[in-house]
Amino acid sequence: MKLRKGDNVVMLSGKDRGKQGKIIMLSPDANKVVLEGLNMIKRHTKSRQQGKAGQIVSKERAVSIASVAMVCKNCGKVTRVGYRVDGKSKIRICKKCQTEV
Ligand SMILES: [Zn+2]
Repeated sequence: MKLRKGDNVVMLSGKDRGKQGKIIMLSPDANKVVLEGLNMIKRHTKSRQQGKAGQIVSKERAVSIASVAMVCKNCGKVTRVGYRVDGKSKIRICKKCQTEV
C-alpha cells in the first residue's frame, strides 16, 4: 500500500467526491482507508438506560483505496505516488513534482 496515515487524499467517488481529507486509519489487508470527516455514516444507537433517548452517532466509514487519490502536499495537485531509490532507502515521491512526500 502506497498510502500512509496522515496523507491527504481526495475522494474520487461517492457522495463526498471531490472532497479532501486526511487518512486517519489504514486497513492494508482490506485495501481500505478511513478519512477524517469524510464518507460519514449515521448510526442510531439505542439508549442503555431506560427513559433516555437513543443517540445518532456520526462515524467515518472506510473507503476503498481505489476510490481515493493522493494529494501532494508540495504541489497541491492530485497525483500518484512513485518511488525513488536513494542509496539503500526507498523514498516516496510525487509523480507530478518529483519531491518527497
Ligand atoms: Zn507534488
